[in-house]
Amino acid sequence: MQWIKQLFSRSKPSIPDPLWQATIARLPFLHFLGSQDLAALKHLCEQLLDKKTMTGAGGLELTDDIAVMIAAQACLPVLHLTLDLYDDMAGIIVYPAEFVVPQAEVDEAGVVHEWREPVSGEAIGAGGAVVLSWQDADAFDVPGYNVVIHEFAHKIDMGNGDANGCPPFLSAFHRDIGLQEWKEAFSSAYDDFLSRVESLDAGLPENFDPDDPHHAQHYDELFASLPLDPYATQNPAEFFAVATEAFFVQPTPLAQAYPRVYDLLSRYYRQDPMISRA
Ligand SMILES: [Zn+2]
Repeated sequence: MQWIKQLFSRSKPSIPDPLWQATIARLPFLHFLGSQDLAALKHLCEQLLDKKTMTGAGGLELTDDIAVMIAAQACLPVLHLTLDLYDDMAGIIVYPAEFVVPQAEVDEAGVVHEWREPVSGEAIGAGGAVVLSWQDADAFDVPGYNVVIHEFAHKIDMGNGDANGCPPFLSAFHRDIGLQEWKEAFSSAYDDFLSRVESLDAGLPENFDPDDPHHAQHYDELFASLPLDPYATQNPAEFFAVATEAFFVQPTPLAQAYPRVYDLLSRYYRQDPMISRA
């Protein structure tokens, strides 16, 4: 925390090199970046930490390690775009672990159902904060999973209104991407993924209990064949966020299953994580 305090009192904030090297060493999915990209990412992190307030909540004491680990993951998607995509964000709030968020859904009869659910991250719309569980932001053992990239993808998506799976196309970078091309590729991949998950669901036993270790193992074996986390079936906005996570941290299954989506994400983020420049 000491360095963060110093950061704001210095005219040229800079992340100490040992801290930066230690951060990179813990983020294996950054290893496709070359030295120039890594230097640019460090600079972007310094700008993000200078512009936006990061706050510990729920008893979490924010340290330099935590701040830089989160900034490095948050800045990866905008490395070849602009930090302006995060302008519409009040700040970053970090809880020690999952936190409880009120949820609401209107059913087909128009009845509002409200409940409280523990989550690992949340991107609050209309200029709100990104809220993260540090335990999850620091977990890299589940293939394709990255809560920081996921929530910041929602923030990017919210750049032109509500998150809907279609992020803003910037005239400086995205003149070659057509809205129709984007919608067609993403909706056809989404429909295909939905039917793949539905057919796997049909293979689960009728008395399926996720808390039963045998059932859980069966579920994991069955769903391991999917190129994306089944959470992507929630809606097109979640599909975009989950696809962005996979694009950066486990790109090969996504590129094989949905090459048009991979190609569009690569043109959108102006990066190709399958080609190492390291
Ligand atoms: Zn999400």
